[in-house]
Amino acid sequence: MKVQLQRSGENARNPLIHEKEIKEQNYPKTWLRFTDAKENFLSWGYLGQQNKGAGWLVLTAQQQPDALFFENLLATSLHKRKSLFKNLSTTNAFRLFNGVGDGLGGVTVDYYDGYLVFSWYNETIAALKEEVLQGFLTAYTAFCGTPALGVVEKFRYSTSKIESQVLQGAVPESLLIVENDVHYRVYLDEGLMTGIFLDQRHVRNLLKEKLAQDKTVLNTFSYTGAFSVASKVGGAKATTSVDLAKRSLKKTQEQFAANDLPLTDEKIYVMDIFDFFKYAQKKKLTYDIVVLDPPSFARNKKKTFSVAKNYGELVTASQTLIQKGILVCSTNAANVNLKQFKKMIEDSLVQAKRKFHFGETFRLPEDFSTVKELPEENYLKVCLVYLEEQR
Ligand code: SAH
Repeated sequence: MKVQLQRSGENARNPLIHEKEIKEQNYPKTWLRFTDAKENFLSWGYLGQQNKGAGWLVLTAQQQPDALFFENLLATSLHKRKSLFKNLSTTNAFRLFNGVGDGLGGVTVDYYDGYLVFSWYNETIAALKEEVLQGFLTAYTAFCGTPALGVVEKFRYSTSKIESQVLQGAVPESLLIVENDVHYRVYLDEGLMTGIFLDQRHVRNLLKEKLAQDKTVLNTFSYTGAFSVASKVGGAKATTSVDLAKRSLKKTQEQFAANDLPLTDEKIYVMDIFDFFKYAQKKKLTYDIVVLDPPSFARNKKKTFSVAKNYGELVTASQTLIQKGILVCSTNAANVNLKQFKKMIEDSLVQAKRKFHFGETFRLPEDFSTVKELPEENYLKVCLVYLEEQR
């Protein structure tokens, strides 16, 4: 079927299809041939419900994508990650295929010690998955010399009724992985999240290798405590993890146990972060390092939080808990670019009359490939902020 996109000129080769570019809704869940406004052939692609945009062009496909096309696509992306496969004893969890950054929007594949986790971000690519799986698994087996131990799939679009299921093989309930010599327990088939965000690998390693030695670390929005554990392995004096979710207590204890670390100097609070800030201010608690990595959006009984509107409040509150030290400011909010993010941090610190300077900035690691046409896909922004002695 042929579909005309209302686009021309400069934007012609943007792989993301926007709603406003298509005339009608309800296209079939099949591969489609797209043309521009002047009926010139653009590319093969697909349309369907996804959280942002209306579908993807697969710009490198000369003909309708088939299993062989997908096999070559994954073979190329595996080849790019060759160096990661050379160090599996140090790090055995990373991204193998990153959607549009590797030539097929709407699909990611993560590697967890021989197991694969596929994520489908669009209902149509999920409906067309047989050939994608066939091609990808063939390429994987050829590259690794052995088939995947097991395959899990996640459905990350709002019309999906299920979040996660095992597709192939015997997938253990939990799995111990290693990342830069730190162990993490992950749950591959438990909802949408596995227990670790693989895109923060370099930031965890920075804490472990450079920042945390002999320091006290406050990890806010700590989830399973991955930043706390990496800090502790790196010689942190004491860590404090704070997360609202009840599951975080057990999951964080488990991550310390995975590294044979006693919990003697580690505190884990199941608490709203804004309540924790009040508690810490009252008790005059201070830290050398505070990690601020909230979700892009969150809603609880008391308030809604969004990075775009409220990140500054987090900076304002957390700087009161640092005499002299480092704020690790992190966000995955695609709607806030690096410049805007730094401005929010700067404005809050100026307002609080703090002397500070920005250090290194981290973006997505190399296995999370992106394309220049879609800067918002390069969503991760992590800024080190050095705070001078508070007077
Ligand atoms: N920084 C973590 C990932 C954070 S995921 C890591 O790198 O592993 C976001 C976490 O924020 C979730 O675990 C969620 O439970 C928690 N959260 C959301 N709103 C919160 C709030 N108001 N106070 C504390 N934690 C909150």
